[in-house]
Amino acid sequence: MSITPLMPVYPRCDFRPVRGDHCHLIGEDGRRYLDFAAGIAVNILGHSHPGLIGAIQRQAATLMHVSNLYGSPLGERLAQRLVDLSFADTVFFTNSGAEAVECAIKTARAYHSHVGNDHKFELITFNNAFHGRTMGTISASSQDKMHKGFLPLLPGFKYVEFDDLAAATAAIGPHTAGFLVEPVQGEGGIRPASQEFMAGLRHLADEHDLLLVLDEVQTGVCRTGTFYAYEQYGIVPDVVASAKGLGGGFPLGACLATEKAARGMVAGAHGSTYGGNPLAMAAGEAVLDAVGNDAFLVHVNAMSERLRTRLGQFIGNYPELFELVRGRGLMLGIKMKVEPRGFVAHLRENHQLLTVSSGDNTLRVVPPLVIDEAHIDEFMEKLSAAAASYAAEAMA
Ligand SMILES: *Cc1c(COP(=O)(O)O)cnc(C)c1O
Repeated sequence: MSITPLMPVYPRCDFRPVRGDHCHLIGEDGRRYLDFAAGIAVNILGHSHPGLIGAIQRQAATLMHVSNLYGSPLGERLAQRLVDLSFADTVFFTNSGAEAVECAIKTARAYHSHVGNDHKFELITFNNAFHGRTMGTISASSQDKMHKGFLPLLPGFKYVEFDDLAAATAAIGPHTAGFLVEPVQGEGGIRPASQEFMAGLRHLADEHDLLLVLDEVQTGVCRTGTFYAYEQYGIVPDVVASAKGLGGGFPLGACLATEKAARGMVAGAHGSTYGGNPLAMAAGEAVLDAVGNDAFLVHVNAMSERLRTRLGQFIGNYPELFELVRGRGLMLGIKMKVEPRGFVAHLRENHQLLTVSSGDNTLRVVPPLVIDEAHIDEFMEKLSAAAASYAAEAMA
């Protein structure tokens, strides 16, 4: 037997974290790492946040799981809070980002089907998008590397160039149900959509009775400096998929929709055994208690500006390594002149700094949103030491 008990679908590195301490992780060997990966933009409150721990512990001892057969006081409360914080009128809770996107896809199809337009089932999606790993969400993504070995894909998706309004316009046809787009592409390389593009999609959706569906799984819950990223574009979406930061590390996702967009999501249309269970709702509440206020956003934006300024000043020292800094809030990317994976490993192995690589040769910097100035100082020290040794190595 050569297959490992853990299905070998991840190329895991040697670091084996066993404990979290605020913005640091401690490995099996006792070493401390600065965590600017945050479980891939998940641990927005860092690790071991007392409010989140307390809420989960209390709820686990009170009521962990029932079923969606019964009324849900905690579910109603969290849904109401998300409605109050966003464009949405209604919320479906899931256990992951992909499930939130699946619900969004179903919501879009059901919207048109509900009034007899079953032929309007196709979502226009964008090159280099990432929407998850289920059959539906890989079908929604243009990336061949995620399709290989899993064909046939589900029909009903048309891929066009990201941030290209003319291409999106040209792709509209009799089967189009709407657009599915990340306001800032995450896995695609921390690429923010332009204002013209997002406003243009909104306009096209209005003009053709299409739904504007946003995948805010990575950009949502204060990551980009507003509660959801769409706010920065001055547009109102019809459907939003949310997850990652929403549970602060507890598996929790949500599909948010307007009343109009959710017109097909009637009793029996969708479901989930675990989705929205009391334990997940308690975690979500604890996260919103911490982040659902203006003071928290002020903090995120202050840290973003500080980190961006420092990075902007720094990357010019190594033009052979770094090209530019982009992103929004604390979802930042450093586009590199070299393949970033080697540098990510170098940062981790030699400087105990955790980051994530992303598409388009981009080094992803997605720290916990609770970082302070000292963490930024520590990050910049480690990054500059690492760049110096990496550049020297490359020269040798
Ligand atoms: C992470 C991510 C997903 C998938 O979330 P899972 O929880 O892994 O299913 C979907 N869309 C975007 C934009 C993501 O970043």
